[in-house]
Amino acid sequence: MPDTAVYYSIINALPPHVTLVAVSKTKSVSDIMAVYACGQRTFGENKVQELTEKYEQLPKDIAWHLIGHLQTNKVKYIAPFVALIHAVDSLKLLQEINKQALKNNRTINCLLQIYIAKEETKFGLYQEEAENLIFSPTMSELTHIKICGLMGMATNTNDTSVITQEFKQLKDFFDLIRCRKLPANCDFTILSMGMSGDYQTAITCGSNMIRIGSSIFGGR
Ligand SMILES: *Cc1c(COP(=O)(O)O)cnc(C)c1O
Repeated sequence: MPDTAVYYSIINALPPHVTLVAVSKTKSVSDIMAVYACGQRTFGENKVQELTEKYEQLPKDIAWHLIGHLQTNKVKYIAPFVALIHAVDSLKLLQEINKQALKNNRTINCLLQIYIAKEETKFGLYQEEAENLIFSPTMSELTHIKICGLMGMATNTNDTSVITQEFKQLKDFFDLIRCRKLPANCDFTILSMGMSGDYQTAITCGSNMIRIGSSIFGGR
């Protein structure tokens, strides 16, 4: 069962500019409803099938975020309802999101996932790749997506100095991009960084969207 006392202590201490995404992956519909009953309306899932099933079963005023890697062939399942896709890492994926958004007569909000951790991760863009993507001519043609900002995950370590350095690097890159003349479909307002173990560090470093699972819902 989720720990609603912990939920309230997190949400009550959160600066007003920071959005909490309650990460409900692997958790049951009734666990999610317990957190919903506390007032939470933004939930994150990392798998398309699980996200779609929960969307169908749960109240329609939930804003569902996909926080995990997204395969091109699965975009169609979430395109009708997803509120924000956190982990976009290629132009090909953006083109498919744009296509499916058009079919559903909506604009889909996206974040680009940026590599910041020292450890090997399979997904994400290097800063230079992200920059090339944002300013590529093809990007400005994608009229049914909105790039709302960036997402990153720090190294899984207890060394706060490593985590701080990585989050600061992403914040600096975010600010650098935000100051430039962006295509019409880019509106850099969201910096998604911080999980259960490192969200306080992330907020100190400039995060305005945190993704918290285990602290609220318990271990997986
Ligand atoms: C699972 C997950 C989280 C939440 O992690 P916790 O440590 O349980 O808070 C955040 N972001 C992503 C991308 C995840 O996959």
